[in-house]
Amino acid sequence: HATVRSGGESAILYIDLDDFNHINDGLGHHVGDLLLQNVADALGHMDGVAGHCYRLGGDEFAVIVTTRHIEQRDAMIRNIQNLFSRPWLLQGTEYYCTMSMGVVRFPTEGDTVEELIKKADIALYAAKCSGKNRVEFYDENVESTSFRRLDMEKNMRNATNNAFSEFEVVYQPIVDVTRESNPCVGAEALIRWNSGELGLIAPTDFIPLAEYLGLINPIGAYVLEEACKRCKYWNDMGHPDYKVNVNLSVVQLLQNDIVEQVRSVIKRTGIVPENLTLEVTEGLAINDMSRMKKILSEIRALGVRVALDDFGTGYSSLNHIREMPIDVIKIDRCFIIDIGKDEFSTAFVKMVAELAQTIGVHVCVEGVETKEQVDALKQTKIQLIQGFYFGKPLHKEEFDEKYL
Ligand code: C2E
Ligand code: MG
Ligand code: MG
Repeated sequence: HATVRSGGESAILYIDLDDFNHINDGLGHHVGDLLLQNVADALGHMDGVAGHCYRLGGDEFAVIVTTRHIEQRDAMIRNIQNLFSRPWLLQGTEYYCTMSMGVVRFPTEGDTVEELIKKADIALYAAKCSGKNRVEFYDENVESTSFRRLDMEKNMRNATNNAFSEFEVVYQPIVDVTRESNPCVGAEALIRWNSGELGLIAPTDFIPLAEYLGLINPIGAYVLEEACKRCKYWNDMGHPDYKVNVNLSVVQLLQNDIVEQVRSVIKRTGIVPENLTLEVTEGLAINDMSRMKKILSEIRALGVRVALDDFGTGYSSLNHIREMPIDVIKIDRCFIIDIGKDEFSTAFVKMVAELAQTIGVHVCVEGVETKEQVDALKQTKIQLIQGFYFGKPLHKEEFDEKYL
C-alpha cells in the first residue's frame, strides 16, 4: 500500500533455509529453534531489513524492501548472503546453514499480495533447483515449469494421503557374474509414481520435490515396508538368499528415529536383516560426516547392510569409502557406458574393484546394457551387476514369475 501511495517500487525477498530439516531432525528441534532465533535476530538487526522482516512459518522468512530502501536492494541481498556464508554457533558448535532466496519486484511483476508471494515462491524454488545457496529473481520463463511443480506438489500430497495407491515399487534384478550362469541374487526396489492426474512420473523428477516438501519420509517408509515384505516372501518361497536393496534419501537418514524405523520394519515384516541393504548416496556425507557414520553404524549393528550408491559422481572422495561404514559400493552408470572403450572409465572400475577387495567391500555396477560391457567387466574383480542387459525393473508379479 505504501508503495502504491508513493508511486515507487519495492520488492519481496523470500528466504528459505537450505536443508533446515537436516539440522532440525538431525540435531533436535531445540537446536532448530535456536538456529531460527539466531537467523531472525541477525536479520532483524540488518540495515534496511530491520522492521521489515517476517517469518512466514517453518524456516521461511520474507523481507519487504520498501520504496525508501529500494536503491539498496542489491546491497541488502548481498548482506543477507554474507550472513549465511558464516557458520552459526549453536550450543557451542559451529554449523553451516545456507539459504536460498527468491526475489519478486513490485509493481512490475504483479499487483496482489497473493500473486507476488506466489511468484517469489516460484523464484525461490528455481534457486533451490539450481543447487541451493543462491538468489534468483522471478522470471516468467520459469513459470510454466513451476505450475507443473505446484500441480505435482498438490498431487503428491494427495497420493501420500491416499494410502500410496498411486505408488508402486518395482524390482530390478542384481546378478552375480562370478557364478555359473549369472544367477539373480536379489533386486533393487525402485519407486514408480503413476499419478491419476499427471501420468507416469520418473523418480528423478519427483524425489527432489518430495525431499524438499518432507514427503520423502512417508513415501520412503512405504517403499521400505513394501520391499521388506517382498524380500521376506522371496525368502519363504525357496530363495532364502535373495536380498533387497532400498534407496534411502539423506532426508530420511537424518530423521531422529531412522534406526528405530528400520528396526521396527524388520520386526514387522520378519525379513532377515542381512537380506536388507540400504543404499545411500555420497553427497550427503559431506555436511556432517561424523553424524552420518554414527547413524550408518547403528543401522549396520542391526545386521542390515549399507551400500554407497552412484559412486563416482557428485562429491566422491576415495576417503569416504575408507571412512564410511559400508558393505557395498555401487559404481555409477556413467562409468559403464563406455567401459572397454574409454581408458579412464575402465581404469576407474578396475581401481574401485581392487580397492574394494582390499577393504573387504562388495562392488555392484549399475547400468550394464550390452554384452561388450559385461565382457569388459568380467576382466575386473566385479561380482555384482545390475542393468538392463540382465533385467529391467519389473512389477513384483513379473519378478516372481521370472526369478522365483
Ligand atoms: P539409483 O538408485 O541409482 O537406481 C538405478 C537407476 O538406474 C534406476 O532408475 C534404474 O532403472 C536405472 N537403470 C538400471 N539399469 C539401467 C541400465 O542398464 N540402463 C539405464 N539407462 N538405466 C538403468 P530409476 O528407477 O528411474 O531411479 C532413478 C533414481 O531415483 C534412483 O537411482 C534413485 O536415486 C532414485 N529412487 C528410485 N526409487 C527410490 C526410492 O524409493 N527412494 C529414494 N529415496 N530414491 C529412489
Ligand atoms: Mg539405488
Ligand atoms: Mg545408483
